Amino acid sequence: MIKKAIYPGTFDPVTLGHLDIVKRGIEIFQELIIGIAENPKKKPLFSLEERKEMFEESLKEMGLYSKVKVKTFNSLLVEFAKEEGAVAILRGIRIISDMDHEFTMASINRKLYPEIETVFLMPSDEYAYLSSSVVREIAFYGGDVSQFVTEFVERKLKEKIARIKGAV
Ligand code: ADP
Repeated sequence: MIKKAIYPGTFDPVTLGHLDIVKRGIEIFQELIIGIAENPKKKPLFSLEERKEMFEESLKEMGLYSKVKVKTFNSLLVEFAKEEGAVAILRGIRIISDMDHEFTMASINRKLYPEIETVFLMPSDEYAYLSSSVVREIAFYGGDVSQFVTEFVERKLKEKIARIKGAV
């Protein structure tokens, strides 16, 4: 049986930390699907389609595009995982404080769908404090995000922030 995993998240936008987890994930699973959650309650800066495009273009930049599929979903994660026939949910753990939230989610997902395993991976140390919200904040104030995201995402962030600032 093909061992397929879903790597779900908001990815608003995708960072080099997320891509580090993708690289590790494809070493373990035969198929990896990126599941971009619509997540309206987080009020994402980028639309679902923009987040998908940024993930795909970032995968291309890193030579990973042929190894991963990018999909979007707007349902319960376990339902999406079931539809995809995934055996695992992949999540990244950066620092200990991530554990609280991630353990809660994993145990709820296990109650809803006991057949699925949540697998946690640790990124490289340099990404341990990196998050999409930090990247958005730096970009908003005109800082350099080139060491945190791909060139495509850097460009999209500049365009988006310029549009927001132009509108106020
Ligand atoms: P969510 O809204 O589901 O938390 P995120 O896009 O913030 O979505 O994160 C998706 C997953 O990637 C989560 O498991 C998160 O812990 C993980 N992640 C986020 N940033 C990093 C990083 N720098 N290194 C490793 N994993 C990360």
